[in-house]
Amino acid sequence: MKKKLIVFNWKSNPQSAAAAIKLARAVEKVVPAKNAPEVVVAPPFTFLEDVEKIVKKAKLGAQDLSWEEGGAFTGEVSARELKNLSVRYVIAGHSERRKYLGETDEMINKKVLAALKAGLKVILCVGEDLSIRRRGKKAVEKFIKTQLEKDLKNIKNLKFKIGNLLIAYEPIWAIGTGHSDTPKDAVEIIKFIKRFLSVKCLYGGSVSGKNIKNFVEYKEIDGFLVGHASLKSKEVEKIVKISSR
Ligand code: PEP
Repeated sequence: MKKKLIVFNWKSNPQSAAAAIKLARAVEKVVPAKNAPEVVVAPPFTFLEDVEKIVKKAKLGAQDLSWEEGGAFTGEVSARELKNLSVRYVIAGHSERRKYLGETDEMINKKVLAALKAGLKVILCVGEDLSIRRRGKKAVEKFIKTQLEKDLKNIKNLKFKIGNLLIAYEPIWAIGTGHSDTPKDAVEIIKFIKRFLSVKCLYGGSVSGKNIKNFVEYKEIDGFLVGHASLKSKEVEKIVKISSR
């Protein structure tokens, strides 16, 4: 089995540096297992420096970035600033940012371009909501294709390593709900994405220590983007262990 990539997205958690350090130690402890997958920890910006001091085998990720290179953009964090903190991976276009912060495909496109330009590995999240899923596979494919076209606009004009672009297929209705997609349906969409674009594709949406075994055997799924389960060290251990087979 090809090495999987596991990205632990802590979202806006935990609430203290001490808790972040504890969690990062728990991740680091399970990474050296034989045939371990590549593991990325994506804490909030505030804990990047703390986590960076702990993770040696795991890699550091960020949950967002600014499309600007720096300057008068209050609250924003640039790709260069992330790189200087040893961040290797960055998530762009997470559905929670699209929904709660009004991120548009145009904004996400600028973020993807900024990340690739800076040499970061970018994980672009795409996925449909329930109303689209209910309309069937063709409707989902159409929606995903449009997202990819918009979010990756002008990418051809950029010089970057194709390995630095990853897609996370995250059906919105499966995120944080405890109801993951079926592996079969997720693989169908991932295959569709891979026909469109020859890149690594992760699945995200309520992946846990309990259900990951159903996904892990599929060679089309290159890894997982894990939210809630990444906050529990027992879950982290199971997820890494099962993906290491
Ligand atoms: C995510 O944050 O991208 C995610 C998939 O969350 P969860 O695992 O909680 O569904």
